[in-house]
Amino acid sequence: MDERTVDLERRLGQLRGRIDRAVAAAGRDDTPALIVVTKFHPAADVLRLTALGVRDVGENRDQEARATAAEVTESTRAAEAAEAGGGTGPVAPEWHFIGQLQSNKAKYVVRYASVVHSVDRGSLVDALSSAMTREQDRRQRTGIPARGDLDCLIQVDLDERAAPDRPQGIGARGGAAPEDVLDLAERIDAAEGLTLRGLMAVAPLGLDPAPAFARLRELSAAVVHRHPEATWISAGMSQDLEQAIAAGATHLRIGTDVLGPRPEVG
Ligand SMILES: *Cc1c(COP(=O)(O)O)cnc(C)c1O
Repeated sequence: MDERTVDLERRLGQLRGRIDRAVAAAGRDDTPALIVVTKFHPAADVLRLTALGVRDVGENRDQEARATAAEVTESTRAAEAAEAGGGTGPVAPEWHFIGQLQSNKAKYVVRYASVVHSVDRGSLVDALSSAMTREQDRRQRTGIPARGDLDCLIQVDLDERAAPDRPQGIGARGGAAPEDVLDLAERIDAAEGLTLRGLMAVAPLGLDPAPAFARLRELSAAVVHRHPEATWISAGMSQDLEQAIAAGATHLRIGTDVLGPRPEVG
């Protein structure tokens, strides 16, 4: 094991302990899924993480994600070929796309991502749906193994401040207005190639995350009432995972706490 892998293993262990304590404090008997956000970190770190048992990684920019995913796939294949015939080879991770997404990038994202957490408008639903059905066709024509639908989460904007009053933060954040969530859920549910899984949010910068996540939980209940399968709540980052777990998060997106500081905030 190289030094970086040892470091990542130690940090992962500490994070898992932190998550377990938050789960116990919240009186929950289920542990949320962990998505390690690898943005700005190299493919080598993703490979180290998968070797340590991480199965889900998150990225927020298509161009970087596409390159990293291609590199990881190639290394995983090469390692598989080298091990052919025996042992448990390396396993490629599931890619979660968590950043703001332009519709014209949908066709790239559906090639590597299993989940998009940041669906926030009808035009993006349409773009992802047509990109996904084309991707499914392409796989059939070219003999690439078929894949299931794209899992989609609606990103909700929980910041009630008017736009000019908001501090600039992670990716200017994005997200659908809470009052648009049910219509968007309907649209995803009706779209070919997409499966509605639930909601995602980022806590508003500079505000107490607890009431924001409580609002997210209420919105989730309204969605689940109409779409009983759409139970995922993707919330909680390095700074606020305890509050997210207390509010019922099913998926945590953690970057810094595992990988250390990023060169810049995206
Ligand atoms: C970067 C990012 C994260 C991870 O944030 P950390 O503070 O590094 O844990 C989670 N969600 C989104 C949408 C992000 O952009």
